[in-house]
Amino acid sequence: MIQLYIPLNFLGVIYREIKQSLTDLDKMFVLLEKDREVRDAPGARPLAGMDSTVRFEDVSFHYEAARPILKNVSFEIPAGKTVAVVGPSGSGKSTLARLLYRFYDVQQGRITIGGEDIRKVTQASVRQAIGIVPQDTVLFNDTIEFNIAYGRPGASRAEVEEAARAARIHEFIAHTPKGYDTMVGERGLKLSGGEKQRVAIARTLLKNPPIVIFDEATSALDSANERAIQSELKSAARNKTTLVIAHRLSTVVDAHEILVLESGVIVERGTHAGLLARQGKYAQMWRLQKLEAEPVL
Ligand code: ADP
Ligand code: MG
Repeated sequence: MIQLYIPLNFLGVIYREIKQSLTDLDKMFVLLEKDREVRDAPGARPLAGMDSTVRFEDVSFHYEAARPILKNVSFEIPAGKTVAVVGPSGSGKSTLARLLYRFYDVQQGRITIGGEDIRKVTQASVRQAIGIVPQDTVLFNDTIEFNIAYGRPGASRAEVEEAARAARIHEFIAHTPKGYDTMVGERGLKLSGGEKQRVAIARTLLKNPPIVIFDEATSALDSANERAIQSELKSAARNKTTLVIAHRLSTVVDAHEILVLESGVIVERGTHAGLLARQGKYAQMWRLQKLEAEPVL
């Protein structure tokens, strides 16, 4: 069970922080029903879920009316394909992920999964269809097993372990004092950014949803760790409809389409090769990162 040690009046604050860090703590949302900004339409039915194609159709969005964040954003992630989003900090990349997970409803345009407007189906079914590896994973003050099994309540220890192995966090867990029963969080074992992200990957592998979102860590991971985690991210994305928010461009080269987002506008789009040939912003970002990646002699 979720253990809440927190005074109730802090829950609002915590709710906002959790929403910001994009974890899929649906149970928390149930607890905080009164604070929800997004509600199911009367008589909403679950997503049919046959087709996991994701479409953003002319989406505009703001958190505060005075400050538009996304402006007329359109793209499609065909079922099983990967679309990558790159761009400067604050350009609205994580907001795309928050909208797809339906933390907020769009003010203009629509987002569809398998052709269904996500505002017209139940929020629970949308979240069931999506796994998120967020920028900063928030863990429960509970055991490591609980934190991984959260992806699929009722999973057996063997299934949890299999997911942990695939996310390459099993060895780490096996060396903790109580293994999978080790408590994590505030009063327990503290995990590094990379370890937390592996827990989130294990959770997503166990959940096995048709759609996955990766909001790659910047601050949480140093570049060595970030490179090390790429193959686990890749295996979690295999055959999934994938939205990847990429800070390291090496992770996007195989994407079906790459979007360059600036101040909420898609300013360039195409394949890696196409964008390099264009010699625009993407090509420039690529050159800069290559320079950074050169070993210092
Ligand atoms: P990115 O992921 O590209 O760095 P975000 O999508 O997180 O950018 O944020 C885009 C813009 O929206 C930023 O200017 C950010 O400050 C603002 N923003 C993000 N969350 C909120 C919020 N809950 N309320 C108001 N503004 C927000
Ligand atoms: Mg972000």
